[in-house]
Amino acid sequence: MPETIWPMALGEYSKDVENVAEVVLKTWPLVRRDFPWRHSGDPWRILLAEILLIQTKAEMVMKIYDRLVALFPTPCALTGVDTEQLEEHLKPLGLYRQRSQRLLRMAEYLRRVHDCKVPCDYEMLRRIPGVGDYVAAAVYIVACGGSAPLLDANIARILSRTVLGVDPPGRYMTDGTLGRLAGLLKWDRKLAYAFIDFAAAFCTSRRPRCNACPLRSHCKYGSRYV
Ligand code: SF4
Repeated sequence: MPETIWPMALGEYSKDVENVAEVVLKTWPLVRRDFPWRHSGDPWRILLAEILLIQTKAEMVMKIYDRLVALFPTPCALTGVDTEQLEEHLKPLGLYRQRSQRLLRMAEYLRRVHDCKVPCDYEMLRRIPGVGDYVAAAVYIVACGGSAPLLDANIARILSRTVLGVDPPGRYMTDGTLGRLAGLLKWDRKLAYAFIDFAAAFCTSRRPRCNACPLRSHCKYGSRYV
């Protein structure tokens, strides 16, 4: 898919994106959710959560997360684990074969290359097998206190709808415009969680709650299509 044409100067988008982020942050106390991984600053626990959250609702992940962390508190605790045994733990989430393979490959790499630690370096995170741009950025921001452009389906949806007035393309991760929009913000843990919770409360994929949405006056999609 060709990259979306960048129709405006970056500076003009910058103000739009900042306004969106400001409203999202202000709304967070009203829509904030609590999950066990949000109480941790441990890079391995955050990485584990992010892998489990891929294409899966947080409420589902909650059901097995504490048990997995207790069983596998470090990457090394996971290395050498029997694949079928791990798959049994992951079954409630679905995609358990892929997830199990991914976790075992990751753990083995971390044992071999990083002495069983998750590195707090974006490029090193990105090199871990099975870790893509979003997961690397999420771990870097949430567990390491760094900042990197963060773009998951929720953030892509909010930015695309508010600023561009359209739904994001299916392959939003390779869409240069959305990546650049996300890159206009200085991401930290609070902003990341605020965007994710805002999407869950208002800007859902189907039937967004535009009539109740605090972003409506800033949103091209909400004012145009709803
Ligand atoms: S107005 Fe609608 S489309 Fe725009 S951010 Fe809010 S919920 Fe999403």
